[in-house]
Amino acid sequence: MTDYFFEPAPIASLPVAGSDKRYAVNRIFCVGRNYADHAKEMGAEVEKDQPFFFTKPGSAIVHSGAEISYPPGTENLHYEMELVVALGCNVFQADQQQAKKSIFAYACGLDLTRRDLQARFKQKAHPWDLAKAFENSAVVSGLNTEVELDSLDDKTIQLKRNDQIKQQAKLGEMVWRVEELIEFLSHYYHLQAGDLIFTGTPAGVGPVERGDQLQGSVDGVGSIELSITR
Ligand code: MN
Repeated sequence: MTDYFFEPAPIASLPVAGSDKRYAVNRIFCVGRNYADHAKEMGAEVEKDQPFFFTKPGSAIVHSGAEISYPPGTENLHYEMELVVALGCNVFQADQQQAKKSIFAYACGLDLTRRDLQARFKQKAHPWDLAKAFENSAVVSGLNTEVELDSLDDKTIQLKRNDQIKQQAKLGEMVWRVEELIEFLSHYYHLQAGDLIFTGTPAGVGPVERGDQLQGSVDGVGSIELSITR
């Protein structure tokens, strides 16, 4: 037993539907601009040659149903509703078949973003960490292991803010498919069980205010809820 100077931080984990066991979270990879309409609303184009990624620490995880306070350091917190993929084994330099086999489950996620800081960092070509990788910025639902990858294209991803639909798209609109995202990442990382991939958000992102209720869903995958305290 290792003796530490202080108690190590707890391991972030997610519930898995139909199981008493939990899924221990390792890293969180997030793809940017994976829906053409969202890229457009951000004044950008989709990256046609290769996807681009940023990361969040596992400690940024918040569970669905939680109430969080409005984060410090921003006046323009945004929601981004996303399909999340959870890996179940090691995968390195994979082809798309191997990538598909590495998927353990799917979930709904909210990639909370300090949009004002992100805009400033983009302008200065600075890294996005303060805009993306902050505490409570990765809201994730329970995992669903019963989803077939090939069934996802027709499924609707949706976000409601205070009961009003703000984002709605089909998963088939994703520029880079799930297996392509895993294949790409696996050429830069030794991906592991416990790694999550946020697969990007459709158009309709917008601000979150104190007192808001966010409700998201991906048909056939699950749903997610978040409250922001007053
Ligand atoms: Mn995102």
